[in-house]
Parts: sequence; C-alpha cells; structure tokens
Amino acid sequence: MVFEISDSLTEALRSAGSLGVVTGAGISAASGIPTYRGQGGIYDDPEEGDRTVEALSAPTLRDDPDRTWRAIKDLALAARSATPNAGHHALVALEQRFDRFVLLTQNVDGLHEAAGSQNVIDIHGNLRRTTCQACAAIGAEPDWDGIDGAPRCSCGGLLRPDVVLFEEMLPPDKVARLYAELVGAPPEVVIAVGTTAMFPYICEPVHAARLAGGTTVEINPEQTPLSDVVSYRLAGAADAILPALVDALWT
Ligand SMILES: [Zn+2]
Repeated sequence: MVFEISDSLTEALRSAGSLGVVTGAGISAASGIPTYRGQGGIYDDPEEGDRTVEALSAPTLRDDPDRTWRAIKDLALAARSATPNAGHHALVALEQRFDRFVLLTQNVDGLHEAAGSQNVIDIHGNLRRTTCQACAAIGAEPDWDGIDGAPRCSCGGLLRPDVVLFEEMLPPDKVARLYAELVGAPPEVVIAVGTTAMFPYICEPVHAARLAGGTTVEINPEQTPLSDVVSYRLAGAADAILPALVDALWT
C-alpha cells in the first residue's frame, strides 16, 4: 500500500462535527465507468472526444435532439451495469457518523444515490433521470434499449436528459446549495476524491475549508492542482482508501 492514514488525520476526523466530500470520476472507476479526462478516459481520443462533446452540447440538443440522445444512450449503456463500489459504500458509512455531511459530485452515474448517500449535490445532474422541456416534469430513467432518438413526455413535450450539457449553465438551485453548505459554512474536514480538479467550483470547497482553518484531504492516484494545497494527500484508488479511512475511524 502506498498510502498511509496518519494518526493525526484520524484524530482530525474523529474530532470534527462536519464533513464535506467532493467526488469526481475516479470514485466510479472501480465500478467500471470510464473516467472522462484521465488516462484512458473517453475524451482521450481527440476526434471521438470532439464529436462526443459536440453531441452532448446545448446547441445540438436544440438543433438535433436525436443526436444528443444517441450520445447520452452510449454513456448510459456504459453505466447501466455499474453498481456502487466500496468507495461509495464507505461514504454512506461516513455520512452516518457526522452531524453535518454534504457530498458534492461531478458524476452523472447516480451511484452515490444508489449506494444510499442522502445529502448529495449532483451538480452535473444524473443520467438516470429525465426532465420534460415543456412541463418540467422529472422522470425516471428511460428504457434505453428502445431509444433511437429523443423520447417524449406524456404531455407531448420533448424529454431531455437531466444532466448539464456542454455550453450550459449549472443549475442555480444546486449552485446555491454548494455555496451555502460548502463555501459559506465550510465543513471542518473536506475530502476531494478522484477528481481532476479542473473546475473552480469543485476546488472552492477545499480552499474554503483551508482558509477557515479546517482539514483538507485529497484521495487520487494522480497529481492534481489540489495536491500541493491539501493538508493530507493519499495517493491511490478511492475504493481502497475510503474503506481504510472508515476502518481507521471505527477502530
Ligand atoms: Zn411534459
């Protein structure tokens, strides 16, 4: 094992009343979901990546919704057989231990909810939900096998995947929750897990906790812009390190 959970980190977690966790694609890697930008990620092949990004964009949804839906279907089929791994389950256990817990995720695979996490801000949405562009109804995961274009709501309106597409704004209600729960009132400990930390709003909870004198942790096999900022860096896979953290806390 390359990582080591120090006594001081265990003690910081034990004495904290609040915990914030920020997750990216790295936590879902052990569930078989490809990362986006990491090594071997789906945007690694530049040409295919460009086409996928274009298909998953707001202008394409507007002009050619069938194309967007076919691209979404590819992502959904890749995620369909995935189940939560030991990293997701460890976060459920951690949530139960803290008076205040908030989980911000970049992932759209729905695996945190599937594992049983409660206070989740899925800032980029969830592939397993739809919304109607006419009546705004939120619907369940469509039957992907039957989809060859944009499905319709019972009201007749076109459905859209409940995910933030390229060139779209983040949902204002979720941004407000992010700033209220993770930046305005930073948890005493903030852990960033498996995120390449490319987005400012993903890094901000870590910076806010640090400025407030809290403890910050990064769990990632690769170096990121957060690596030199955090109090503790644990280099390795989330599905190994998070359960080890839980073990350390409970023993
Ligand atoms: Zn509708």
